[in-house]
Amino acid sequence: MTETVRVRFAPSPTGFLHIGGVRTALFNWLYARHVGGTFLLRVEDTDASRSTEDSIKEILEAMAWLGLDWDEGPYRQTERQDTYNAHIQTLLDNGHAYRCYCTPERVEQLRKDLQAEGKNPKYDGLCRNRDDQPDAPHVIRLKAPLEGATVFDDLLRGKVSWDNRELDDFILQRTDGSPTYNFVVVVDDADMNITHVIRGDDHLSNTPKQVLIFDALGLERPKFAHISMILGSDKTRLSKRHGATSTLAYRDMGYLRDAVVNYLARLGWSHGDQEIFTREELIRFFSMDNITTSAAVFNPEKLLWVNEQTIQSTPDETLAQLVAPFLVSENILPENHGWTQEAITRAMPSLKQRGKTLIEIAHAGAFYFKEEIEYDEKAVAKFLTAEAKPLLEAVVSGLEAMAEPLESEALEALFKKTVEDAGLKLGKLAQPVRVALTGGTASPGIYDVVLLLGKDKSLKRLRHAVGLIAG
Ligand code: GLU
Repeated sequence: MTETVRVRFAPSPTGFLHIGGVRTALFNWLYARHVGGTFLLRVEDTDASRSTEDSIKEILEAMAWLGLDWDEGPYRQTERQDTYNAHIQTLLDNGHAYRCYCTPERVEQLRKDLQAEGKNPKYDGLCRNRDDQPDAPHVIRLKAPLEGATVFDDLLRGKVSWDNRELDDFILQRTDGSPTYNFVVVVDDADMNITHVIRGDDHLSNTPKQVLIFDALGLERPKFAHISMILGSDKTRLSKRHGATSTLAYRDMGYLRDAVVNYLARLGWSHGDQEIFTREELIRFFSMDNITTSAAVFNPEKLLWVNEQTIQSTPDETLAQLVAPFLVSENILPENHGWTQEAITRAMPSLKQRGKTLIEIAHAGAFYFKEEIEYDEKAVAKFLTAEAKPLLEAVVSGLEAMAEPLESEALEALFKKTVEDAGLKLGKLAQPVRVALTGGTASPGIYDVVLLLGKDKSLKRLRHAVGLIAG
């Protein structure tokens, strides 16, 4: 029987969901979906002073936005104190842990002295073999091996060996009864039957400690895969200096979730040279074999490019749904606008090549959605000229005579005839019409603009433009 894969994402809710951190979630999710396993979400909120409910809310929201659905959880460590206590008792009973009554002052002095001697500031094991167990404040420490090595296999890095002399009898439970990070992770991973721990390599130094706890509890170790961290362009840890780091900030900047997922999946994983993947392809192709251990560099321009590609391949109806909220948030349409989804969708074929983000697409469509367009003064001065006036007037009369619905061929014929009669090139007409209909000089193809606006709106704007021209 093949083992059922169970993986987890275990964020600490001490802030927003970092764009680098969410890649860890994505790799776990993709692995689970690829093998038909189970993906758990576990909120590591034992650090009460730094964990917040707002952060938990934001993490869940970001996961939901990206479509990284979890099969179990969210579990919360703060609700699992009894389980941790039970495992502490097991370790005390089987002799792998002990009560340490050393005062913080003693431990601190010890640390200072060892550091002054240039030695590893380890706890010296004073309480390790104590016979008495007074009813006094104490911490619980692991009775760690004093020599030899702690060895584990990493699926990506092979054999990792840690000299036990580097480790000390580290604390499992503090004086106030709260368990420490490495301890709860092990208890949870064991209790939740996690088979693969896929996480950032910033945790690599925790793993030997966790392995020792698994062994001390007589629990089977999961498989480990430590993925490389994401760095900024200057090869330092990804931070604000390199651009937005909050996952939801990308949503708010008009990125598509599929673009973010696609881009993050390629950070440290590859499938040949392919850059653009559908979600189904990512699930189908994802495997541990193609994860690299070299650091991945976050490149905001590349993410923007992936976003642009994704916008262009998104079906019009879906794109319209995604753009709609930005029409309101960008003040292009009022909150209670009466635009139907169908009417918004109609603009998408001409707009989807015209922006790298949903916000840019919304602005590219402003001429279509806004009742009153704003005129770019420079464009008006340059193109709404006395020379253009008779041309615009000719287009107005031609358009007035046209049957509805308007057709592209008829418009083309009208425009061509108008410039031919005047002995001019098409550009001499197209730009003034563009300024008249959109307020500016950049827009979709001019016939598309007229077709989108329709006869009445186009005529109204053309007449208004003619009126703007003096003389
Ligand atoms: N809570 C840890 C973190 O946010 C992750 C622990 C783990 O994946 O083992 O970095």
